[in-house]
Amino acid sequence: MRPVYLDNNATTRVDPEVVQAMLPFFTDQFGNPSSAHAYGASVGAAMKKARRQLQVLIGAQFDDEITFTSGGTESDNAAILSALEVTPDRTEIVTSAVEHPAVLTLCGHLEQVRRIKIHRIPVDRRGRLDLDAYKAVLSPRVAIVSIMWANNETGMIFPVTMLAELAKEVGALFHTDAVQAVGKVPIDLKSTAIDMLSLSGHKLHGPKGVGALWIRRGVQFHSLIKGGHQQYGRRAGTENTPGIVGLGMAAELALKFLDDTATRVKSLRDRLEDGILQRIPNTSVTGDRMERLPNTANISFENTESDGIPHLLGRVGIACSSGSACTSGSMEPSHVLSAMKTPHGAVRFSLARDNSEADVDRVLEVMPTIVGKLRGSPSPGPRERSREDVRSGPCLSGSRTGCNS
Ligand SMILES: *Cc1c(COP(=O)(O)O)cnc(C)c1O
Repeated sequence: MRPVYLDNNATTRVDPEVVQAMLPFFTDQFGNPSSAHAYGASVGAAMKKARRQLQVLIGAQFDDEITFTSGGTESDNAAILSALEVTPDRTEIVTSAVEHPAVLTLCGHLEQVRRIKIHRIPVDRRGRLDLDAYKAVLSPRVAIVSIMWANNETGMIFPVTMLAELAKEVGALFHTDAVQAVGKVPIDLKSTAIDMLSLSGHKLHGPKGVGALWIRRGVQFHSLIKGGHQQYGRRAGTENTPGIVGLGMAAELALKFLDDTATRVKSLRDRLEDGILQRIPNTSVTGDRMERLPNTANISFENTESDGIPHLLGRVGIACSSGSACTSGSMEPSHVLSAMKTPHGAVRFSLARDNSEADVDRVLEVMPTIVGKLRGSPSPGPRERSREDVRSGPCLSGSRTGCNS
């Protein structure tokens, strides 16, 4: 049984070219980039190259605007906490109800411990941000707006360029968690009013545990991690040089594959969506295709619940994630689908450049039986019925979900 991986918003396969680029930095190129001798210099040069590779992918004006971090979570935390430090007279944060926990958990903490007022902008049933609610809470009391470029569960893209311009009118900083957007849609930061952007290596076929925070030149920044003077004093600690080199290569490859993602990957995604809607009644896709990441399909199935479908797909070697049960194993509904008032079980399929038409066809082949099983109706075809794995009953517990990713 050939495994099919359709959970690329949780994490991606590291591209073999990325691995190749990293290997020397575990062996010969072990130097500390802060060292004054040749061992340090060559590694320092490699880090500079990685900054340039990222700079090109996100359309940054200067390579020194990029600070390497331990990933998306740290970048999000660093951006928000810095804003509170540089503008201590501003005591409010604007975010959305559907951010990643890297933002929402921090905001909840700041609310409780530091009495920061948090405005969580709601979304409608299709996952779109409530713009009137957004405009209504902007004021000179807002230190920072942090709204994601694209949502990890639904793939919905938010109009961050416009949101940033509105934030500027009240003098607030604008940060965007672009972990899901970078490498999937074109980004040209220099032509926007955005001040800070977070990205993560492992969401774009790079290594885990490395990411970056882009900070526009001129934006005041207080470092989260204090210590040595690495990275212009913005992030202390000896750099994760193999990871950084891998992230740089991942960025270069993502740019090379940007057209392929917009066309071939998107058409695979559309084929999967259309195929499911055709074959299975009472299903719906969340969000407009035009306002969505090209790789993400979040599909609700009436009369199914929690992670029944991902669990049964997992038994036939297909990895996807449940959009309705969240936080690894807990049966709490996802905060994203709750915000959209989606009452049904939902499944997130997230594709990438290493997926093929055969992967999509596998899913389409097994889906009718699986959904039929969960809805308690007879299985449709003899071919599907003979599948041992599909025949076994639904199990609604213990299946791991990736919807926090
Ligand atoms: C995965 C993800 C993160 C966290 O990134 P890590 O590198 O895993 O810390 C943050 N935001 C979004 C939208 C994500 O999808």
